[in-house]
Order: sequence, then structure tokens, then C-alpha cells
Amino acid sequence: MPDGSSVYYQQEETGTVMQCRVQGCAVGAAVGDALGMPLEFGPPRPIGRLVREMQAGRLPAGTFTDDTEMALALAESLLARCPLDPVDLAQRFVAWYQAGPEDVGNHTANVLSRMAGGEGWEQAVGAVQRLHPDAAGNGSVMRCWPVALAHWNDLNQLLGDSRLQSRVTHPHPECVVGSAFINATIYHLLRGASPEEAVARALGVVEMPEGLRVVIEAAPYRHREELKNSGWVRHTLESAVWGLLSTDSFEEAVVQVVNLGNDADTAGAVVGALAGAAYGLAAIPVRWRDEVRGEWPLGSGRLWQADDLAALAERLMGISEPGSYCSYRRRDDGLRPGDQQRHGD
Ligand SMILES: [Mg+2]
Repeated sequence: MPDGSSVYYQQEETGTVMQCRVQGCAVGAAVGDALGMPLEFGPPRPIGRLVREMQAGRLPAGTFTDDTEMALALAESLLARCPLDPVDLAQRFVAWYQAGPEDVGNHTANVLSRMAGGEGWEQAVGAVQRLHPDAAGNGSVMRCWPVALAHWNDLNQLLGDSRLQSRVTHPHPECVVGSAFINATIYHLLRGASPEEAVARALGVVEMPEGLRVVIEAAPYRHREELKNSGWVRHTLESAVWGLLSTDSFEEAVVQVVNLGNDADTAGAVVGALAGAAYGLAAIPVRWRDEVRGEWPLGSGRLWQADDLAALAERLMGISEPGSYCSYRRRDDGLRPGDQQRHGD
């Protein structure tokens, strides 16, 4: 990537503002995930010693984790079948799970292991939710951004598929609504709304439990010491909204959130998607873009880097381009890193 011929370097100069925001969303999510990776499960960092560089943790520096891997599975599903087909998505999640990811949430593992054993997705997720009715983890909001890019020009479809992708593993109302809220916020950011406007408009179109609404509305007024940043979806949404609305750049938004520790990579992925959509690809520090990477599909040996994610974002955007809305049926042969072909080409 350092040779300067990467897709994203060229598109910074020639692409539209919308393209830059769409690419920023995808690359930003992976960057936030990778920056948070070494800080996961740790305590909050002291304000004078915030981590600002990619560091090694349980994985090499710059490596993205399950948050981005599951988002890539969702993106592949949307490119193969649109509107979202939950059966196809569940199969792709199971294939990822069976490939032995480095990291997978407990709730997600419970659901996917039942599916891997032969249960249909509705049966599997229903059984796990009956055992743990209050389970409301952040495992569906962390990966939801591809739906926002695939449906960038259809808010109703965006909201419907955001909810559906959550229900495949995380049917708790706050997970379902949280996914719709994050993607509605991205929808407005892609159109040039300010972060404050985008959050307000998303709150205006997504019905949500009052307790969750209060948390989101109060988030920008929180002090960092108050933020728990746990794996509870409320905490992740709170941290991400706080990071987006209490800073004025991609770098600061992501740095502030991942340094909260605890579920740092997931909160980093969510705020990275939001801030990337707000400020665009060009605002993501080059030193981070150059380092972010990960294997996809797991076990394939293919290394995904920022330009692959940027190209994927454009392909997702192509699903909804005029004349091709959900009518395009891409041959189901998986994604190829570096493949820049656009839909219809
Ligand atoms: Mg993770």
C-alpha cells in the first residue's frame, strides 16, 4: 500500500464527497477496531497517556478483529442478496465461526454453535434468547455499517435490514433498535449532516425504548470517567455517540473512545464507522490506514487492507445506485481483495 497507487489515494483526488464518506465509514470501522484491539478488557487510560498509535495486543499491531470480520460477512451477504436474506447471512456467520475466529462474543458463539449443529437461525437465536432473555450485547451494532452503505439512498430499506441483521444473532429490542439508530445516523452523515444533526435526525426516525433514548441523548454531556464502555449495547452506543459529538475530528473521536478501555475494539469500530462517515476517508490518518489489516475470509491467507475496504464500500454503494437498486444479483463467489469492479461493469 505504501506505493501510493492504492485505490483510496486515487479516489481522494477524484472521488465525490459522498464516495469519500462511504469509504471513510468502512475504513474507519476497521481502523477503530484495530486501534482498540490491544486496549480491550483493559482499564481506561489516563488522560495524559492516551494511545494514539496502532499497537500489538493479542494480535499484531493494526489487525482488525471479529467486529470487522462479521461486518465483512454481512457485506458479502448484501452483495450476493439484496434486500438482506437472513438465511444467507446466517450461513456466512456460521462459516466464519467454524473457521475458528480469534475472538467471538459469548452470546454470538452460543447462537452460531446451535446453527452449526443444524438448527435454523430463528430456532437457534430464539432458544438462546429464551435462556438469556436480558442478553443485550453489542455484537450486532458493531458490524451493522455495511447495511447503511448498501441502502444509502433508501432509509426505509436501511432501517429494515439494519434490524433484520441484528435479529439473526441479537434479537433483544435494544440491539435491534441500536443497529437501526447507528445506520440512520450514518445515513444522515453521508448526506452531509453535522454529527449533532445526524444523531438528532436518527433519534427522530428510530423508535426506541425510553431508557435507551435517554442514554443516547445524555451521552455528549458525559465525562469520560462516567463511561463504562462494557459489552452492553447501551454502553457501546453511549461511548460512540459521546466520542462523535464531543470531538471534531476522526482521530480524536476514535482516540477518545478506544482509550476508555474495556470493550475498546467494539466501541472503536462503532465510533470509527460514524466518524469515518462524518469526516470522510481523507480525514483518517494515513499512518493508521497504512497499518490496518486482517485476513478475510479466515483461513484463506488473503490479507485485506484499507484499499480493499474502500473498494468494498464502493461496491456496497453500487447496490443502490439508480437503475440497479436491489435488482442486481452478483454471482455468489465471494469478495476478492483489490477487486475494483463496480456493479454493472
Ligand atoms: Mg473484537
